[in-house]
Amino acid sequence: MSAIAGPRALSAAVIAVGTELVADGRQDTNGATIGLMLASIGYETATRTCVADDEELIAFALEEAARRVSLVIVTGGLGPTVDDVTREAAARAFDAPLQQDNLLLEDLRLRYQRRGMKFSEWSARQAMVPRGAEPIPNQAGTAPGLLFIRPNGTLVALLPGVPHEMERMMTEQLLPRLRDLAAAAGGDGGGGLVTRGLKTTGLNEIEVQTRVLDLFDAGHEGGTTLTLLASPGEVSVIVRGRNAAAVESTWTQARARLGEHVFADDAFTGLESAVARVRPRESSRSPTAESCTGGLLGSLITKVPGSSRWYLQGWITYSNESKVASLGIDRQLLELHGAVSEQVATAMAEAARQRSGADIAVSITGIAGPEGGTQNKPVGLVYLATATEASTRVTRHLFPGDRQNIRLFSARAALGRVRAEI
Ligand code: ATP
Repeated sequence: MSAIAGPRALSAAVIAVGTELVADGRQDTNGATIGLMLASIGYETATRTCVADDEELIAFALEEAARRVSLVIVTGGLGPTVDDVTREAAARAFDAPLQQDNLLLEDLRLRYQRRGMKFSEWSARQAMVPRGAEPIPNQAGTAPGLLFIRPNGTLVALLPGVPHEMERMMTEQLLPRLRDLAAAAGGDGGGGLVTRGLKTTGLNEIEVQTRVLDLFDAGHEGGTTLTLLASPGEVSVIVRGRNAAAVESTWTQARARLGEHVFADDAFTGLESAVARVRPRESSRSPTAESCTGGLLGSLITKVPGSSRWYLQGWITYSNESKVASLGIDRQLLELHGAVSEQVATAMAEAARQRSGADIAVSITGIAGPEGGTQNKPVGLVYLATATEASTRVTRHLFPGDRQNIRLFSARAALGRVRAEI
């Protein structure tokens, strides 16, 4: 194998640090998110690696990657505990001894104080900065990130492992900087790979494909490719190519065809975050009434910071008794139509809206399986309803997959309905 001369332009390596990622079954979702984020600004992720909390192994992975690609992003292992060794590993890999940063130390002390947390010598580890590295402020947590520019020009960023902290640091601080670098390096049409994504909800993969089918062929001629990625309740469209104008044109056409179903102009924004962004007023808070999802919808909503501004409360009425007792659903309605019915979904949403006085309420009732399905009401049958002052709308769905999938499809689709109502 011939040696690689220098770091490849606009090429990235993403390293996820954490023993839980290699041995304890935790998924490396950070790597996937970062890959998508980088693709959106013209970087090609060449490798993704997971490394245990082991200083020597992290240092090896870092040093190796920094010689081969122009951007290395590491997540995790920046916290205050004894197993957080990414900082030390970077110091070792780049021969950059750790030094205390007094401004950072003071800032950390204040942050701990504000949260009523005790500041110890362990916490102070987060103020240690390898020589020549630039601290990246962490607006969402305590562990600051660190940025190195290596002598060969490679950028190495160490980010916290907590997904929402990583995402915020990437979006607010790293991506704008990297976008400029990518443009200067030719990612704006000078030969680099350009990627644009969008995300839709309320259409399945085939429906999305039908709307953009001719763009697949048209794009091919100019070397532009389209990819569809489906996950429960969402379909992403990713357009890639080396001709930035052609990518932009294909993306614009795809976006126009998918119209109101598009909830994000990138491939990494979650539906929960998109819904949180379009909430009109703090005063118009929404409740949820869930049956087969058992609180999953509330959990997705509250995953997003600031959801308290618009999420009012949730009723988890799993049994018929609780639908009657907590939401006041008519027992006869349940007996006549069954809990999984258009009528009960409607009644649940309307009751949640009336009882809370909110402007919009959403309900879910369905059969997640594996048992409980019949010929008329098979596993996967789900009714979603949204009630507003003006009207109540109910939709019938047949979601595929196993119990978990059906529940996730239901919760995501309900979020999509809330978004559509707004
Ligand atoms: P902290 O200050 O919280 O210690 P940290 O930078 O040290 O931050 P870790 O301790 O490595 O981060 O991880 C914090 C949390 O984020 C853990 O729950 C961990 O499982 C999760 N996490 C870490 N890396 C990833 C990843 N690559 N994908 C998804 N979750 C991750």
